[in-house]
Amino acid sequence: MGFWDSEQCEYCNGPIVEKTMDLPRKAGKRYILIMNVPVGVCKKCGTKYYTANVLKTMESVRSRRKSNAEIPMAVYSL
Ligand SMILES: [Zn+2]
Repeated sequence: MGFWDSEQCEYCNGPIVEKTMDLPRKAGKRYILIMNVPVGVCKKCGTKYYTANVLKTMESVRSRRKSNAEIPMAVYSL
C-alpha cells in the first residue's frame, strides 16, 4: 500500500500513482538535483504531489555539507 493509493487528483479526479523521480530544486542562486524523491503523480493530467514529509526532507538535504556529486548544469532561457 502506497501513500497515494485511493487518493485522487484535486484538478481532474484522476488516480494518483507514486513514482520515484529526480527533481531539480532551486537552492539560493543555484539549482540542485535531488535524486530518488517519492512523488505522487496524477495518471491523467500529470500533476505532481508531495507529502509534507518529503518536502521537509528536501529542505533538509540542502543543508547537508556534502552533496553526492557536483555536476555542471546548462541553463537556457526562452
Ligand atoms: Zn489530475
